[in-house]
Amino acid sequence: MIDPGITRRIFIGGEWVESESSEVQEIFNPATGEVIARAPRGSGSDVQRAVEAARRAFDGGWGDSTPKERSEALLKLASLVEEHSEELARIESQNVGKPITTTISEEMPPTVDALRFFAAGARCLEGKATMEYLRGFTSMIRREPVGVVGSIAPWNYPLQMAVWKLGPALAAGNTVVLKPSEWTPLSALRFAELAAEALPPGVLNVITGDGDSVGAAIVRHPGVGMVSLTGDVGTGKEIARAASSTLKKVHLELGGKAPVVVFDDCDLEATVEGIKVGAFFNSGQDCTAATRLLVADRHFDEFVSTLVNAVEGLRVGDPSDPDTEMGPVVSSQQLQRVTGFVERAVAGGGEVLTGGAPMDRGGFWYTPTVVVPPDQRSEIVQREVFGPVITVQRFSDEDAAVDWANDVDYGLAASVWTRDVGRGMRMAKRLKFGTVWVNTHIVLVSEMPHGGFKQSGYGKDLSSYSIEEYTQVKHVMVSLD
Ligand code: NAD
Repeated sequence: MIDPGITRRIFIGGEWVESESSEVQEIFNPATGEVIARAPRGSGSDVQRAVEAARRAFDGGWGDSTPKERSEALLKLASLVEEHSEELARIESQNVGKPITTTISEEMPPTVDALRFFAAGARCLEGKATMEYLRGFTSMIRREPVGVVGSIAPWNYPLQMAVWKLGPALAAGNTVVLKPSEWTPLSALRFAELAAEALPPGVLNVITGDGDSVGAAIVRHPGVGMVSLTGDVGTGKEIARAASSTLKKVHLELGGKAPVVVFDDCDLEATVEGIKVGAFFNSGQDCTAATRLLVADRHFDEFVSTLVNAVEGLRVGDPSDPDTEMGPVVSSQQLQRVTGFVERAVAGGGEVLTGGAPMDRGGFWYTPTVVVPPDQRSEIVQREVFGPVITVQRFSDEDAAVDWANDVDYGLAASVWTRDVGRGMRMAKRLKFGTVWVNTHIVLVSEMPHGGFKQSGYGKDLSSYSIEEYTQVKHVMVSLD
C-alpha cells in the first residue's frame, strides 16, 4: 500500500525537488475511492526549471551522444523496469484499478519490450543515400534530434503510454519533460527514479499537475521543440492551437471508436472471446477498445446472445485478486461520464441487453454493458464512452457495414471477423483507420506503428516511424570543387 501521507515531489535534473506550487492533488484508488497518495499540482515555474534542466542535459552531452550510447542507456532502463515490473504493476493496479494479473502479464512485458525496441531502433535510423544528385555536389541527410520534447500522457495506461512517448524521443537523442495525468502520476514518478540509474541527470524530468497549468506551460514554452500528447481529441485540438504560437512540432495520439465488423462466416466462439477481451480489457478504457459492433443480419440474434452470455461471465472484482478480469473505472468523473452515455442512449430509444448501471461496491464501478443504440447517428455510436460499454448494430451487406464503420470522426482502429480471406483484405483496404485487425483485436507489437487517421490524430507511436517523428531532417550539400 502506498503511504497516503507522502506528498511526492517532482523529478528534475536527476533528483527529487520540491515543487514551487503549494497545491496538492489527491490520488485515489478507484477500487475503493480512498486517497492513496498526494502529488504536487506543479506550476509554470516548475516547467521552467524542468525545461532548463532538459536543455542543459541536451547541450551537455545527450544531444551529442552516439546511437550506441543511447541504446545502451535504454537497454539498462528496460532491464531496471523489468526487475521492478511487479512493483510498477502494483502501483498501476492501485492507482488505475487494473486487475493485477493482466497488468503483470499483459502490460509490463510490452512496456519493457518497447524500451528494448527503441534501444535497437536508435541504431537503425534510415535516410536517403549520400550521393551526387547534382554534378559537382555531394548531398547527404542528417537526422537530428529536435532538442527538448514535452511528453503529455493520459491515465489509462500511465506508464506504457509514457514509455511510448519518451522511448522514441530519447532514442533519437532528445531530452524529455514528461507530464503524467493528474489522476495517475505514481508509476511515472517511480519510473523517473529508476531512470536516474540509467540516464544522465536532466535527460528525463517528470512534473505532476493539471493539463491547463503544467501541460499548457509545456506546450507554450519556446524552449520545447516538440510536444507529444496521448489524450482526448479536444485536448489534442487545444494543444495544436496553443503550439501554433511557437510553431512547434505536435504529435497527437487521440481517442477512438473502433468498429468491429462481424460477418456471418466468422468463427463464432473465437470472435466472441476476442471481442470480450478487446472490449473490456482495462474496463474498456482503451483508445482501440472494441466498442462498436456491426453484426451481419443473418446471425445477429445467435451472435448477440452468445456475446451477452460471455459478457455476463466476466469476473469483475477486486483488482488485487489474481482471478479478476475487470476492475473499476478510473475516477468518479469517469463513472459519471459512462453512466450518462448509457442513460442518454436509453432515453433516446436504445435498449440495454445486459449491465447498464453503476455497481454498488465503493469506489467507481460500472457493470459490463451491451446496448442496442437508438441509431447510427446517436451519441453512444458517434462518441467515445471510454468505459465497459459496447453497442451492437445489425447490418445487411458489406457496403452498409463499411459505410457505418467509417461514419465517425475517429480513425484509430477497427477489426473485421470473417473466414473469407479476400473479404478480410477488401475490408482492410476500405476501413479508414490507422490499424485494421482481421480476426483479432487490441493486439500490438513494438515493430508496427500505432496511430490514427482523421480526428484520432497524427504521428505514429511504436515502430521505427515513431523514432523518425522525433527527429528533424537536415540536408547537407558539399561542393566538390
Ligand atoms: P485528456 O486529454 O483529458 O488528458 C491527457 C493528458 O493531457 C493529461 O496529462 C492532461 O493533464 C493533459 N492535458 C489536458 N488538457 C491540456 C492542455 N490544455 N494542455 C496540455 N495538456 C493538457 O485524456 P485522458 O482522459 O487522460 O485520457 C483518455 C483519452 O486518451 C481518451 O480519449 C483516449 O482515447 C485517449 N488515448 C489515446 C491513445 C492513442 O494511442 N491514440 C492511447 C490511450 C489513450
